[in-house]
This record gives sequence, structure tokens and C-alpha cells, in this order.
Amino acid sequence: MFTKIQKSKISKISKIYCLAVVFLMLFSFPSFLTATHSWGEYHWARTLNPFTLKLGDNLSSTWKPYLTTTSSDWSLSTVLDTTIVPGKTTGQRCRPTLGRVEVCNYKYGNKGWLGIAQIWANGTHITQGTVKVNDTYFNTATYNTTAWRNLVMCQEIGHVFGLDHQDEVQTNPNLGTCMDYTSNPVGPPSNEHPNQHDYDQLLVIYGHLDASTTISQKSPAVMGQLSFDDQRNWGKKVRQSRNGLTALYELDFGGGHKVFTHVLWAY
Ligand SMILES: [Zn+2]
Ligand SMILES: [Zn+2]
Repeated sequence: MFTKIQKSKISKISKIYCLAVVFLMLFSFPSFLTATHSWGEYHWARTLNPFTLKLGDNLSSTWKPYLTTTSSDWSLSTVLDTTIVPGKTTGQRCRPTLGRVEVCNYKYGNKGWLGIAQIWANGTHITQGTVKVNDTYFNTATYNTTAWRNLVMCQEIGHVFGLDHQDEVQTNPNLGTCMDYTSNPVGPPSNEHPNQHDYDQLLVIYGHLDASTTISQKSPAVMGQLSFDDQRNWGKKVRQSRNGLTALYELDFGGGHKVFTHVLWAY
């Protein structure tokens, strides 16, 4: 049996609990409505928006039009622009260059992955990135399509900005963004380009300015020397989607220096 005092305590506690629930609902719903798909606090340091990110073209003639498409798609963002510049590496080696993104294609072999984005970070600031698309799979009938090439190029470049997937279930209806994993990139709607939700998330990630640009943020040179198309050099797996088709790896060099690998596996 509860005494009167105990009862009033219980009803007070349940009132506080109800208020807490209402409070949580009020303040957490807006964050569902706005964009919430970054994969960490990681971003390119810059002192002004919009900033321009260089995409180094180490691509074969087959791939070049896809980089052109994704570069102009992402440049619709009000906080960033991308510009395609001659690559400083080869498709096969795909070594990173400080302060920019090297984009590469090659027959990397039957390693299971269709595309990877690798991001070097110093603290929360991205210092450099590489995107690799694997022709071993893109040369097969399944993946040798405009839609698959657009989806993978757009998604891997999106990861290098700090964006994560909006959805990782391959069988549900497309969300109309390349940041939505799907087994049917054509749709409709097509998952070959970013959507408004992605541009909104970029506004969140790049909502602040930094005291310096990413160029002054260095990663130790040794961090660029590993063969990063080899899964053994990706470090520990920090998460993967339920269907196992996407994953994130982290290689920690200590002192806040890390390399992240976003993987999109082939079926
Ligand atoms: Zn910053
Ligand atoms: Zn991905």
C-alpha cells in the first residue's frame, strides 16, 4: 500500500516524466525534419563559404562524363563548389594530394567493392580525399550502366564532403538521391543525383567558418603511402549496414590523425 506522500511523489515523478517526453518530442522532431546524415563531425576547413574543392581527374574517357555530372550536381550547393582539375596520380596508385580530392578508376580486382571513398582527417578537419571506382565490376553487365556509374560517383564524392547515406536498405523505394543505397539506381525516382536533403545537410556541416583553410591542416606523409585499395589497410570496421552492402572503416594513426574508408560492396 502506498501512503499519501508516496502517491503524491509518484504522481509528481510521472508528471516530470510526461513533461520530459513532451520536451524530447518537441525538440527532437525538428532534427528529424531537417537533415541528419553526416558520418561524423568531419569537414573541410575553410574561412569563407562557398569554398571550392578541387577534384583531380585521374579517370579514363569512359568515366570523365560522370565526374562532370557529379561535379556540377554538387556545386548547386550554396556552401561549396567543385572544380575538375588534372589529376596528380594514376588510376592504379590513386595517391592522395593535400587539400583536394583525387578521383580514380582502375580494374582494382575482385576485391568485393564497387566504390570507395577515403578521407584523411586531422581532428575533425579533412585534409585530403580519394575516390576509387572499380572497373573489375563496372565492366560487367550488371554495373556497366549510366545509372550505376552516376550513383557510385555521386555517393563517393558526397562522402568526401562529410555526407552519409540517407538510407541503406536496397529493397525499399528510392529517395531520389545518390546517398540512398539501392539495387535499382534508375528508379523512378532515380538515385543518380543529390536531392534537397543533401544540400540541407551540407548547410549544417558547413554552417560555421574556420580560422584557417584545410591546406594548412596536414596529415603525416606516411598516411598517404599505404595501398588503400587493399582492405587489410583500412583499419577497424566501425560500422556496416544491416544488409552488409555498405561499411565504414577507420585507420587510426594517433594524435587525431585518421583515415576513413567508406565502402560500397558489389553484390
Ligand atoms: Zn571547422
Ligand atoms: Zn556510401
